[in-house]
Amino acid sequence: MATQQIPDTLPRQQLESRSNIRTDVLVIGAGPTGLACAIEAQKAGFKVIAIDKGCVVNSIYNYPSNMTFFTTPELLEIGEIPFSSANQKPNRHEALEYYRKVAEHYKLDIRQYQWVKTVTGKDGDFHITASDQLGRVYDYQTRKLIVATGYYDLANELGVPGEDLPKVFHYYREPHPFFDTDVLVVGGKNSAAIAALDLWRHGARVTLAHRGPKMHSHVKYWILPDIENRIKNHEIAAHFNTAVVEIVADSVLLETPEGPRRIKNDFVFAMTGYHPDYDFLRSMGMELSPNQCRPICDPKTLECNVPGIYVAGVIVAGSRTNEIFIENGRFHGRQIADDLRAKLGGADK
Ligand SMILES: Cc1cc2nc3c(=O)[nH]c(=O)nc-3n(C[C@H](O)[C@H](O)[C@H](O)COP(=O)(O)OP(=O)(O)OC[C@H]3O[C@@H](n4cnc5c(N)ncnc54)[C@H](O)[C@@H]3O)c2cc1C
Repeated sequence: MATQQIPDTLPRQQLESRSNIRTDVLVIGAGPTGLACAIEAQKAGFKVIAIDKGCVVNSIYNYPSNMTFFTTPELLEIGEIPFSSANQKPNRHEALEYYRKVAEHYKLDIRQYQWVKTVTGKDGDFHITASDQLGRVYDYQTRKLIVATGYYDLANELGVPGEDLPKVFHYYREPHPFFDTDVLVVGGKNSAAIAALDLWRHGARVTLAHRGPKMHSHVKYWILPDIENRIKNHEIAAHFNTAVVEIVADSVLLETPEGPRRIKNDFVFAMTGYHPDYDFLRSMGMELSPNQCRPICDPKTLECNVPGIYVAGVIVAGSRTNEIFIENGRFHGRQIADDLRAKLGGADK
């Protein structure tokens, strides 16, 4: 067996021991907000490590392949790095390219493919363990911790029999594999509308089911008339005030206002939203508000009830995931860095 040539630039992780890796500030989550937090803390003179269980901006990487952002480029910018795009609204590929370049520009220390499992310790001396894809464990020690873990990893389940069948998806990527098949899209917001239209435009026979009386008011103004016209023209079948009761191999049972109805089905896209990992947040001592699971935190500094731990990005809004997105979450980094300076000192570079 040919021996593998050992490259002379081994990834940082392999060179360094996996235990007792020290830093001033550790950021869990290298999404747009986590990156913004790492940049601002680094600019404030602190040693910063960011950890992500997937790749850089892993959530955006897992968005629909041909997705176009709702937002114009300048509102997605972090670290004062201009986001130039030929399009009025950038697409997913451009955003991946942009956030990679920003991370490179600031030479951010990002540990990809490490899943943070535990956070223990106290202000000034937190201990974090993470495990990589091979199950190897890394121990970090940090003075301050920023949690920017997002919401896209945990889907809101339908909670019906058959939801675990391989034909059921909670994430939409692209339409090709569903050409000439019967697809049910569950949901009434942007992700459901975008998936239903894309699947229909690429030859799937699409049915949409939504528990609401019509498409949700949050559906973007340029998407709503499109989906409503497809429904009006019976190009996309739609059932409103309808719930999914059961999913089986070749059909789905719906509870419609006219009574139970079984429809022929090959695939189901349950586009019913996502939520932060509340158990993980609570596991580090974080208190969450009773109804909306918002971390209890100082709105100015974003420090949560555990001194030394800060929350950033969409998790700050708990279950109200449409309240904080890149446009506004990207400023959390500066708020936190201001407080880090006040508490730890640190020089503006
Ligand atoms: C289809 C779609 C379109 C959107 N369009 C727009 C738009 O046009 N404009 C806009 O402003 N917003 C948009 N959003 C919302 C926006 O993408 C999110 O609000 C934003 O990504 C939140 O950023 P974040 O950094 O808080 O979280 P995320 O981007 O979700 O990043 C969190 C990161 O934490 C990592 N992570 C989680 N748990 C752990 C752990 N235990 N250990 C290590 N790493 C962990 C994840 O892998 C992830 O990379 C859109 C969302 C979707 C789904």
